[in-house]
Amino acid sequence: MNYSIRLFRVMGIPIELHITFILFLAVIIGLSIINNSIFWAVLFILLFVSVVLHELGHSYVAKKYGVKIEKILLLPIGGVAMMDKIPKEGELKIGIAGPLVSFIIGITLLAISQFFDININGYPLLYTLSLLNLMLGSFNLIPAFPMDGGRILRAILSKKYGYLKSTKIAANIGKSLALIMLIFGLLSMNIILILVSLFVYFGAEQESKIIEIETIFKNIKAKDIMTLNPVCVSPDMSVEEFLDFMLKHKYFGYPVVENGKLIGCIGISNIHKKEGTVRDYMEKPIVVSEDTDIKEIIRKMANTDRVFVVEDGKLRGIISKTDILRAMGILELKEELEH
Ligand SMILES: [Zn+2]
Repeated sequence: MNYSIRLFRVMGIPIELHITFILFLAVIIGLSIINNSIFWAVLFILLFVSVVLHELGHSYVAKKYGVKIEKILLLPIGGVAMMDKIPKEGELKIGIAGPLVSFIIGITLLAISQFFDININGYPLLYTLSLLNLMLGSFNLIPAFPMDGGRILRAILSKKYGYLKSTKIAANIGKSLALIMLIFGLLSMNIILILVSLFVYFGAEQESKIIEIETIFKNIKAKDIMTLNPVCVSPDMSVEEFLDFMLKHKYFGYPVVENGKLIGCIGISNIHKKEGTVRDYMEKPIVVSEDTDIKEIIRKMANTDRVFVVEDGKLRGIISKTDILRAMGILELKEELEH
């Protein structure tokens, strides 16, 4: 289901309003009418035109690097240009372009407002809008993910430290700034500051996790990290035998194999009674092939602790969550030593 409405295209990029944005806009317009002050409604709409121009600034440069921009989506907290990827070479220029647009609009409007302004309900429209654009540009330059400043910082750092380490440094700076904002927000009971600090904290956390996984697991497939020749059990093994078997091998989960075929899997969490055999308690295994991408495996592991690697009907290996964590530690060290 699509929760947004498409307005029009600029530079071939669709501009969409999210349903929450439309509701927010309706509330602002409603309040303006009730209070007999259309200034706030006009200001709000122009502020979001400014946000679109800011995002178009990013998009314009991104397009030059061959980035495909799916759309610019407007949310009550701001705009997002949805790009299929952010090329490492272009990140610095793409990151700077948005705030640059905001500063150009802000300074131009500020200059104009010194000679001429539009007064609505006694408020100077151009002057207020110029300040909002300057704030928009400055706020986005805070060197913290997910703000533009975080990306600019990473782009500068990555020349020296490599992409992964720079992402971590930029994310840690973002998290530290977020914590400082949170403390100030709590002390002054400023709700906006508290919300922004949470937005920055979780944005930084998410960005660094995604980049970490993408960088170190790039081109890694199931066959690269699977444990070969896993210890199997037979479906006819009794529960008591199985418990002794588990004690001896000390794994928490096992493939159940019959006539050379994987027919199920069983682990410590499947057993609830002493009676019966493995067949009575085993469950359906989650199967991948040797060439399954690690990202796909992580996605499949959301609901299970291990996946089984099967090729030509034969069980080749097993990948547990522990295997992924261990592989991650080793690959991370490898990536760090390369820079
Ligand atoms: Zn931006």
